[in-house]
Amino acid sequence: LASIESHPERSVITAGSFTIGGKHIGMMAGPCSVESEEQIVATAKAVKAAGATALRGGAFKPRTSPYSFQGLKEEGLKMLAAAREETGLAVVTEVVASEDVDLVSEYAEVLQIGARNMQNYRLLEACGRSHRAVLLKRGPSATVDELLLAAEYILDGGNPNVMLCERGIRTFEAHTRFTLPLATVAWLQARTHLPVVIDPSHGTGHTTLVPSMAKAAIAAGADGIIVEVHPDPEHAKSDGFQTLDCEAFAQMMADCRRVAEAV
Ligand code: PEP
Ligand code: MN
Repeated sequence: LASIESHPERSVITAGSFTIGGKHIGMMAGPCSVESEEQIVATAKAVKAAGATALRGGAFKPRTSPYSFQGLKEEGLKMLAAAREETGLAVVTEVVASEDVDLVSEYAEVLQIGARNMQNYRLLEACGRSHRAVLLKRGPSATVDELLLAAEYILDGGNPNVMLCERGIRTFEAHTRFTLPLATVAWLQARTHLPVVIDPSHGTGHTTLVPSMAKAAIAAGADGIIVEVHPDPEHAKSDGFQTLDCEAFAQMMADCRRVAEAV
């Protein structure tokens, strides 16, 4: 169902304020984690002013260590909804368990399936039954064919609104947090009608590398970007080292717009 042969027109997905695919570039921006209503509303206002079309923010956080901040859960979802009320931005947030899909769907326009859960088949099936769009992230050790088969679970479950996200894979290379293969964009665009998104934040793990990879992704034909932005990255509760401040995000947006016009 994901193949270009089965669906020769490129899919365009609309979820509230957010449209992606075809000629529409979707720009999802916001903090790794929702920390407070002030933080998420301030970020939402700033990223909207810079041109973002959706607000990201994790309320259920899948953390490598059980001792790290695990997210504000439903309280965080309520804060995201408050930020949508203030700005009109569609909300993208992660769902980590199949039993939470209905709850998260009450608050968010887009369900994010995180890299760690790409092959959580019960979660994929639950998202297949949801009426919400899905952003499916590639597992750090999954092949692109496995990513496409994971997408099939959602599509075959009855949900056609799936975006594929390259967020970097695990290699021997240690100078970046993950290795971000931008060739995935061109490879997927030749084989699937689903929108392709790049996450330059997790893909690099370094704030300074994020804008270049965002621009390169747009130049390569990505349909969208999901990027971590925080008003005060140094004090972020998670992933501050790869997070843009609001000013750097505004600059990145301006640069991405120029790249999009040129390609
Ligand atoms: C995130 O988007 O904050 C996240 C946890 O991403 P990933 O699942 O790609 O690691
Ligand atoms: Mn993160």
